[in-house]
Amino acid sequence: RAKEEGKGRYAVYDKSMHKAFNERMNIEKHLRSAMKNNEFELHYQPQVDIRTGLISGFEALIRWNSPVLGFVSPLDFIKVAEDSRLIIYIGEWVLREACRFTKDVHDRVGIPYKISVNISVIQMLQDDFIDVVLNTLQETGLQPECLELEITESIFMESFESMVTKLEYLKSCGILIALDDFGTGYSSLSYLQQLPISTLKIDKAFIDSLSDSTYSQSFVQIIVQLGHKMGLEVVAEGIEEEAQLAFLKDSGCDKVQGYLISRPVPGRGVGKLLEVERYF
Ligand code: C2E
Ligand code: MG
Ligand code: MG
Ligand code: MG
Repeated sequence: RAKEEGKGRYAVYDKSMHKAFNERMNIEKHLRSAMKNNEFELHYQPQVDIRTGLISGFEALIRWNSPVLGFVSPLDFIKVAEDSRLIIYIGEWVLREACRFTKDVHDRVGIPYKISVNISVIQMLQDDFIDVVLNTLQETGLQPECLELEITESIFMESFESMVTKLEYLKSCGILIALDDFGTGYSSLSYLQQLPISTLKIDKAFIDSLSDSTYSQSFVQIIVQLGHKMGLEVVAEGIEEEAQLAFLKDSGCDKVQGYLISRPVPGRGVGKLLEVERYF
């Protein structure tokens, strides 16, 4: 009997595995032609200085509108793009487009807004990663001080030393480095001080639970203090409520990003966001 149950369970497991596999194959198939068919677009979400209420910069977020699959979330295709290594080309496009767009904004409004670009570990592992970044800056004319690369802790699961060396070099060129989704990965506070980062981004999960978890409240307060002691800027992401903003202000957090301020918008929507004098 146990054997039969086992068998049945195995069949269900197998079927869902099969479905997930097919979905991934399908995404990969269409992802391959997405680049040359111009199916990607960047959206931009503002980051606001918590003390002044002014926009300090934007995070570039990729959007894929496939004629076959419809809108596909980055949460569903970035992993596939990484496994198939397509992320190398997609990532280069994102970087170039984000820098080009931001330089254009600078030229039009005369304010050096920062642009934060998400970088995959697969991109960073490429031997020419540094060249790609520096060439992109040169070709677009964006100042290095206006570019922030967002990396996650997963980067350090790979060859830690070589990652640190690359990041240190980029930092020496003036480029900023942010540690994204902080607090959710395999965080070890001991390695934080070895990292050439400039910014900590507190993960949305902690912001979501601020209202009902004293642990999250303490976590946020302690991370802000720790970050400041280490000379880092602290950004909170996924702010949706006024109460969260108030708590973050009290905690001394530097910047906020979230739907409360604005959803990510296409490039043509950025001008309108910049017209707002103060967000709070
Ligand atoms: P992330 O880098 O942590 O980006 C923040 C995500 O939270 C974005 O989701 C953003 O739209 C969403 N978000 C921001 N504020 C709020 C809020 O108040 N409420 C809610 N519910 N969500 C909020 P998105 O654009 O779907 O991207 C998901 C993830 O996909 C990103 O997380 C990032 O890890 C990855 N990603 C997006 N674009 C790129 C890219 O160009 N390259 C790479 N390598 N990864 C990317
Ligand atoms: Mg990010
Ligand atoms: Mg994040
Ligand atoms: Mg994330």
